[in-house]
Amino acid sequence: MLWSETIAKSSAYLEGKNVPGAQTAAELLAARLLGCGRGFLASYAQKEIDGKRLAAMRRGLSRLQSGEPLQYVLGEWDFRHLELFCDRRALIPRPETEGLVQLALEWLDARRPDARPLVVDVGTGTGAIILSLAKECKNPAAFLGTDVSEDALELAAKNAARNGLSGRVKFALADGLDDFDEPGSIDAIVSNPPYVTTAEWETLDPRVRDHEPRIALDGGGDGLEFYRRYLADALNLLKPGGAVFFEIGDTQGEAVRSLMEECGFSGIAVRKDLAGLDRYATAILP
Ligand code: GLN
Repeated sequence: MLWSETIAKSSAYLEGKNVPGAQTAAELLAARLLGCGRGFLASYAQKEIDGKRLAAMRRGLSRLQSGEPLQYVLGEWDFRHLELFCDRRALIPRPETEGLVQLALEWLDARRPDARPLVVDVGTGTGAIILSLAKECKNPAAFLGTDVSEDALELAAKNAARNGLSGRVKFALADGLDDFDEPGSIDAIVSNPPYVTTAEWETLDPRVRDHEPRIALDGGGDGLEFYRRYLADALNLLKPGGAVFFEIGDTQGEAVRSLMEECGFSGIAVRKDLAGLDRYATAILP
């Protein structure tokens, strides 16, 4: 069988199994097996697929039809300027989160070049946020990613190595900010915490609910549990003038703003993602 036929058949198969983005998924699987970019597939179209790759293609299709997310089947996914390993140890990096990195970068790049701020990403998962900050920040800074999951930290460390950032980003096992005890030691806290309410979690797309880690999604009864915790910690741990950058659910803007106000933060802003939905809440400690 030729690659062109393999891809066409795979796409039709996935379509028949109601896998979203069937054509893209078939192409990305093939490109992954060929070790090339998707745009390069045309040059393989008239070549025969070998038995080993055909078997691997079938395994991929079987995982996709069973409802596993494409990113986990591929085992990697792009985020901003990074190529990240991606598996069920951590949440799949999402495009909205690229916007959170942008906001934190703008703030960091406006610091004095000699300030050497300490930036902490709470619940780092794949490491997408903190690794992007380390890669893209213009000024020298210290970067730390924490996670309560040892498995996630192993994945994040692999991602640091893959992107040549092992020397610039540290990772630590910690529940939220619990292990920080030095008041006023952090310049910026960045987090994409779990923010789906427990009830919403129950009704999430099974592709998400049954495959991605619940601890990365379920934000408790009202979805706000982690904002409460991290804001209380931030009050103590941030330097004056330090900042928090949160990703939020699209209906949580006003609630997170109120929490920030109650804690005495200033410069509070709720901002939208590219889809025009409230997605980020940022604030400064006076
Ligand atoms: N945006 C994710 C989703 O809806 C949730 C991410 C999170 O809880 N931090 O699947």
